[in-house]
Amino acid sequence: MPFYRIFAKNNSKVMSDALLGLINNPKLTPQHKSIATKVLQNERITFEEGVFLYEHGELPYLGILANYIREKRHGDNTFFNRNFHIEPTNLCVYDCKFCSYSRLLKQRSEGWEYTMDDMFNIVKKYDGQPVTEVHIVGGVLPQYDVPFYVELFSRIRNHRPNLHIKALTPVEYHYIFKKAKISYAEGMRLMQKAGLQSIPGGGAEIFHPEIREQIAKDKCTGDQWLEIHEEWHKLGGRSNATMLYGHIEKFWHRVDHMERLRQLQDKTHGFQTFIPLKFRNQDNQMSNVPESTVIEDLRNYAIARIYLDNFDHIKAYWAMISRNTAQLSLNFGVDDIDGTLDDTTKIYTMAGAEEQHPGMSTKELVELIKQVKREPIERDTLYNVVTNYQDHQFEDEIKPQFYKLPVLN
Ligand code: SF4
Repeated sequence: MPFYRIFAKNNSKVMSDALLGLINNPKLTPQHKSIATKVLQNERITFEEGVFLYEHGELPYLGILANYIREKRHGDNTFFNRNFHIEPTNLCVYDCKFCSYSRLLKQRSEGWEYTMDDMFNIVKKYDGQPVTEVHIVGGVLPQYDVPFYVELFSRIRNHRPNLHIKALTPVEYHYIFKKAKISYAEGMRLMQKAGLQSIPGGGAEIFHPEIREQIAKDKCTGDQWLEIHEEWHKLGGRSNATMLYGHIEKFWHRVDHMERLRQLQDKTHGFQTFIPLKFRNQDNQMSNVPESTVIEDLRNYAIARIYLDNFDHIKAYWAMISRNTAQLSLNFGVDDIDGTLDDTTKIYTMAGAEEQHPGMSTKELVELIKQVKREPIERDTLYNVVTNYQDHQFEDEIKPQFYKLPVLN
């Protein structure tokens, strides 16, 4: 099956033809064939098959499988949102080895610590602008405790009731609930009552203790991360999940990570999106570890799409992976590229991401998606469609353009 077929425009026959062509290729090994047949028949692959894909799945093969699933679920629809981030602080009581963002308390002079008013003023800056989500996540410090976040969420909720608050990871929740001596269930109820609506996917790293203890040993364990999401799902809340890949983990650690997520999702159905996060090696304690290649990044997106059959969405976070790779990823299982951001996040810029001031206008995001023949859909946090931009014309596209001719002396 020629590689170009996976770039064909969405069309269910073309998609099935590509997959059938692959399955009927006499050069395919029985194991590759069996996995491809499972995908065609909408069957779940096993842990061992997940590891096999990492070890023996070449990019064109994985692309056909992942694109088949992506287009069957979403057609050409490619989601983004209009959002901004608040990062309360880059000081942190923890010392994750991969983290380029945090400054330990002893390096306080290099850090920032926003007050409640600082954060509230950031929200107010977006008054009148059509953003739908505020994403709040940062370092862990003692003054940011349960009463602090209850008050912050309530103030935002009262000020702008339709701005979706997606905030804090289990790393922060574990810390503040422990300090307040309350259970995860009680803590999540308090947060929901204050105005929290979703939990982002961060802090997951790699769940398996063999790796987690080497790269992020003091913060919440993998089991605790999953338990907090489970409590949140029980309250009817939705959340996302990430995986920090491409450092010292083995392929089977990645599959183990996704397996734990898949099992929890079977139980709660509360996850919306899986977001693989590429390890970046600038200015952290793991700078000697080389970064993964673009080929490996694309393979990883594709395997995630194949393995996580009970997750609706796979996201490539463009600010972390670069615009070009985000475009490419749309043919390898990805259907969401995150949001406008407006230069409000430093987490990946400080780790050496190509985007040093991440921000895109809606028009730029739409163009990025259209350039690779996909359909741009602005969504809200819960994937309700805000605007379909496929046939949309921006104001500056419909106004007649007059250009002055240059005057030659
Ligand atoms: S990854 Fe998060 S918890 Fe770990 S040091 Fe960085 S900011 Fe702190």
